[in-house]
Amino acid sequence: MHDFHYVKGKMYCEKVPVEDVEKAMGTPFYLYSYNTLRNHFTVFDAAFSEMPHIVCFAAKANSNIAILKIFVNEGGGMDIVSGGELYRALQAGVDPQKIVYSGVGKRVDEIAYALDSNILMFNLESFEELQVINECARRMKKVARIALRVNPDVNPETHPHISTGLKENKFGINIEKSLEAYRQAKTLEHIDIKGVSCHIGSQVTKISPFVDALNRLKRLIALLREAGITIKYLDLGGGLGITYNRETPPSPSDYAKAIIEASKGLNCTFIFEPGRVIVGNAGILVTKVLYNKTNEDKNFIVVDAGMNDLIRPSLYKAYHGIQPVEKVRREKIVADVVGPICESGDYLAKGRKISRLERGDLMAVMSAGAYGFTMASNYNSRPRAPEILVKEEQFYVIRQRERYDDLIKGEDIPAFLKRLS
Ligand SMILES: *Cc1c(COP(=O)(O)O)cnc(C)c1O
Repeated sequence: MHDFHYVKGKMYCEKVPVEDVEKAMGTPFYLYSYNTLRNHFTVFDAAFSEMPHIVCFAAKANSNIAILKIFVNEGGGMDIVSGGELYRALQAGVDPQKIVYSGVGKRVDEIAYALDSNILMFNLESFEELQVINECARRMKKVARIALRVNPDVNPETHPHISTGLKENKFGINIEKSLEAYRQAKTLEHIDIKGVSCHIGSQVTKISPFVDALNRLKRLIALLREAGITIKYLDLGGGLGITYNRETPPSPSDYAKAIIEASKGLNCTFIFEPGRVIVGNAGILVTKVLYNKTNEDKNFIVVDAGMNDLIRPSLYKAYHGIQPVEKVRREKIVADVVGPICESGDYLAKGRKISRLERGDLMAVMSAGAYGFTMASNYNSRPRAPEILVKEEQFYVIRQRERYDDLIKGEDIPAFLKRLS
């Protein structure tokens, strides 16, 4: 479900014609629907209403503070993976007691910042990290609440780059070894064991890998409790997929039913870390056609958004729907939609059958709300696109387009170079 639709051939986001945003903002830009974002969050949250849980939105999917604030207002927590994301979460007013900190490479300054902020817990990923966090907490005269992120070794059957729960992945601690890690953690004075966590991968379109992971975690929790270790939280991570093209992922309510069923009698507070499923289909990237060209009977549509704006096609061969902002009756062609970046890998769609578009036409790249802007860069010295939030008939600039002087912010020419000129 989303709020991008056509009225008399023109694309709207909620009640705003997309072309009106272009008139005010130029292209390219990210456009998000407030109604869709809020709906997705509340539907996910409500699906688990019968069991104690916290929905910790995975900030890395879309970390604009206005977007985070939408979820905060609905009682959401946050899953963060860096000091920068902690800063954003706090700026958005997230209750620190609903923040979980994941990630394989936490630095000491980031750990200290999180301890200072009194977050709910760290999801630890290695024996060494356990020692480092204990040491850091000792220096700060604090106790760090932790869960161990275990690697349940289930195959999420998704793209290899976004699968994280197999034993060959860098993430988590092997589930067999985790018992020993817990025993170690229990002896550490500045560590307070709170839970078990996992995250099996992203864009998962089946329920069974989640249930498999949960069952493995349940067996672990039973062993831990036998060993006198209290486990209050079970963090099942994120990863629920969305429809980009023809995928048929389970709905949040089907997902929730399966989890609720499989967790009977467990007596834990669940933590979920959804990212993509909340924001993915709530946003689009709008770009303008610059040129049409053919090389060796291959059609190219050159647009003004590139891999620096949306890297998913280049990085994961990801599919994004391409829709005209204004539907016009023209013949269909098969074309590659490519950006202006000087890389052959710079494309938004390949071999796509679409209506011919002409210079100046607007194009919407669909399902761009997750891992879109957050992965944007300044490659080729392109200012990053603005982000716009629509609510009913109004739109709000929640991030300005970068300007050229933003591009060189913090750069400096040392005096010895200046002397030469
Ligand atoms: C990326 C990530 C998520 C969110 O994944 P989605 O597929 O966007 O739901 C949740 N938890 C952790 C630990 C992650 O790394």
